[in-house]
Amino acid sequence: MMDPSAVLHIDLAAIVANWRALAARAAPGAVAGVVKANAYGLGAVPVARALNAAGCRHFFVAHLSEGMALRAALGAGPMIAVLDGFAPGADEDAGLVPVLNSLGDVLAHADAGRKAGRARQALLHLDTGMARLGLDAGEQARLADDHSLLAGLDLLYVMSHLACADEPDHPLNAEQATRFARACAGLPRLPRSFANSSGLFLGADYASDLARPGCALYGINPTPGAPNPMRPVVRLEAPILQIRDIPAGASVGYGASFVAARPSRIATIAVGYADGYLRCLSGQGVAAYRDMILPMVGRVSMDLITLDVTDAPGIAPGDVLQLIGGAAPSPDDLAARAGTIGYEILTSLGDRYRRAYGAA
Ligand SMILES: *Cc1c(COP(=O)(O)O)cnc(C)c1O
Repeated sequence: MMDPSAVLHIDLAAIVANWRALAARAAPGAVAGVVKANAYGLGAVPVARALNAAGCRHFFVAHLSEGMALRAALGAGPMIAVLDGFAPGADEDAGLVPVLNSLGDVLAHADAGRKAGRARQALLHLDTGMARLGLDAGEQARLADDHSLLAGLDLLYVMSHLACADEPDHPLNAEQATRFARACAGLPRLPRSFANSSGLFLGADYASDLARPGCALYGINPTPGAPNPMRPVVRLEAPILQIRDIPAGASVGYGASFVAARPSRIATIAVGYADGYLRCLSGQGVAAYRDMILPMVGRVSMDLITLDVTDAPGIAPGDVLQLIGGAAPSPDDLAARAGTIGYEILTSLGDRYRRAYGAA
C-alpha cells in the first residue's frame, strides 16, 4: 500500500529570496524575520536557520516558549524578540529580548535592570492605532515627561505596528506614521522598527531601521489587489486513496450535500479540516491534477476530502493531486474562496502533513 499522507513542500530558497527582495527594498534599514506561530505554520526552526544563514540577524516570535526553542536552534548571536513580552528573568538567560507593551512592563524590566546593575535589553512598543498591545498615548506622555523611567533599560528599538498597511489609501497609515514620529520625538533617540510586510510597500515614510515582515516571506501577497511581488513558497500535495464510481442520484459525504447529476467518479484524499483545510471550503475547494482543475464535492470531513474526477481520464489511486500552490490555488486564492486571509490558511496547516523542505 502507498503512503497515503499529504506532503507540504516548503521552498526555503524562495523564503530566502523573498527576504533578500524585502531587504533590498528596505535598505539601508535592516529586515527581520517574523517567525511567530511556527513561522506561519511552515516550521520556525528550518525557516529561521535558512534566514540566519542568509544574513538575517533579527527574529520576532510571539510567545516566550517560541523564543526559547528558537534560541536553542540558532545559538547565540541573532536578536530574538518576544512580541508578547515576558517577566524579567523568565527567559532563563536565553538572551531573549522582551517587547515592552505597557508602562508596567517598562517599570518592571527597568527595575530588574537597575537591581542587577546591568541594563536589560528590550524593545519599546508604542501603540499608534491598534488598541491592542503597546504603550497608549497617556503612557507615552508619562515616558516623554520622565526619561529616568527608562534607566536600567538598554532599548534596542522603539516599535509600532500598522493596522491597515495592506490598504495603501487608508488614512490611518499616515496617521500612525505621524503619531509614531511624534511619540519618538519625545523619547531618547532610538532606532525604530515600524513596517510589517505590507508597510514595506507604502513608501519611504514607512521605512525604518528594522522592518518586521512575516507573511511576504512566506509568499503571501503584501500588496492585495496588485500582482504578488513575492515568490510562492508552499505546495500541498496528496495522493488519491480511492476512486469509486457512483450512479446519477447518489450522494457524497456528510449531509448528502452533493448529489451526482450524472454517473460520476469520486476520488478521496487524506486531507481534512483537522489538517487546516477549512470546512467552509466545502463546495468551494478545488485540486489540480496535472493542469486540470478538479472540483471538490460534498463536505470537507475531519480527515478526508472528496473530488469529482469524472472528467480526468486515466486518473487512478496513487496519483498525486495538488491542493495548494502550483496549478492549484495559492494560499491567497484559497483564502478568498474560504472568506479569510492567506495568513489563516498558512497558520492552520496541520501537523499531520509531512513537511518536505527544499534546500535554501
Ligand atoms: C505578525 C506581526 C508582524 C508581521 O506582520 P506581516 O503582516 O505578516 O508582515 C509584524 N509586527 C508585529 C507586531 C506583528 O504582530
